[in-house]
Amino acid sequence: MNRARSESLFQEACHYLPGGVNSPVRAFRSVGGTPVFMQKGEGCYLTDVDGNRYLDFCCSWGPLITGHRPAPIVKALREQIDECLTLGTPNPKEVELARLLVEGVARDVKSVQRVRFVSSGTEAVMSALRLARGFTGRKRIVKFDGCYHGHSDALLVKAGSGLVTFGQPDSAGVPEDFVRDTIVLPLADREAVEQLFAREGDQIACIIIEPVPANNGLLIQTPEYLKFLREITARHGALLIFDEVINGFRLQFSGAAGYYGIEPDLITYGKIIGGGMPVGAFAGRAEILEKIAPLGPVYQAGTLSGNPMAMAAGLAQLSMLTPELYAGLEEKGRYLEEQFNRMDNLPFRMCRVGSIFWLYDAAHERPVRADQIDRESMKTYAAFFHHCLDRGVYLAPSGYEVGFLSTPVQRSDLDLFLSIASEFRR
Ligand SMILES: *Cc1c(COP(=O)(O)O)cnc(C)c1O
Repeated sequence: MNRARSESLFQEACHYLPGGVNSPVRAFRSVGGTPVFMQKGEGCYLTDVDGNRYLDFCCSWGPLITGHRPAPIVKALREQIDECLTLGTPNPKEVELARLLVEGVARDVKSVQRVRFVSSGTEAVMSALRLARGFTGRKRIVKFDGCYHGHSDALLVKAGSGLVTFGQPDSAGVPEDFVRDTIVLPLADREAVEQLFAREGDQIACIIIEPVPANNGLLIQTPEYLKFLREITARHGALLIFDEVINGFRLQFSGAAGYYGIEPDLITYGKIIGGGMPVGAFAGRAEILEKIAPLGPVYQAGTLSGNPMAMAAGLAQLSMLTPELYAGLEEKGRYLEEQFNRMDNLPFRMCRVGSIFWLYDAAHERPVRADQIDRESMKTYAAFFHHCLDRGVYLAPSGYEVGFLSTPVQRSDLDLFLSIASEFRR
């Protein structure tokens, strides 16, 4: 496969963009080689700048549940172009999207009553945390090792060793004081949560979790554990925040909260909600959301928040998300998982929730905590990634990242991937 133009674009990019990219994982550091510059997306296929085609399982890291350029989104954007690009005033599209979201999710999750739109997942989470602190009047937040919540200061914390109570920054440029009140606990460990709440439950503003953690492998938790988090936060007057930037509209319309039948106090959204445009949102109980400006004392704002182009894409996207669509994705997911795991000569096994899948090291049990992921297996993943890339399948360029199915994917596409995978030799 000739990728000469990607090679030269990358060299040029490195002159102007740090590392040649605008988001680090795109740089292929964990799989090696030169990042592929893509030019075009159609259905579930990408075409790179050299004209090579790839079956796309990365799906722009999650947003593309209906694939690239679905007709209803393209149409909505074309129509919106003739109206306006940005207004900086209230506009009808944001009301429509808010109604669609709140009414659709609240059918399963009654705590979703109000929503505010922002422009990214990071912004949604950052704002939701400020709101949780403003609402409870408490400082401390609890997150889990193995969950990613965007790159805001308070969340760039690394897991300490057992006895560390104060968070330690996980990035240069984050002062220790900014993460002092962020506590990092291991996933799937009730006792750690119980001990923390017994000690300082009255200081904890919130627990934030990806209900299906999908940013550091796919660390599927039990429903009982998630219910336990709901109970213990409620008992101590802390909020429970589900970060559904990936899970939302992915597992079903009402996301992981609906899937598990749990009512978090706040839910954050991103990725799918924008239909390929930059949109984030946080939603929850009216009593909490009404603490934000202009109604309340918690400040939050955005020049492009509720942007009509972004809202138009989001509306078209969410309108496509029917129960039949999820049933179709589930069926494809089940087929892929069953067929993949039938190949017992591979160094990986596949785990999956709906249309999210992940390959983990076949020599170990399926991990449920970050520290159970075998770092060594990432080298094997890198070889597998390039094996697939060179044969026209684009997986995420890191073994810690999950894959996504989109609705345009057909059985024949899955069979193509399965046959390529079956030829892999370590
Ligand atoms: C992607 C992601 C974010 C950050 O969203 P951006 O739009 O990249 O800022 C936050 N939380 C979760 C769970 C995510 O998957």
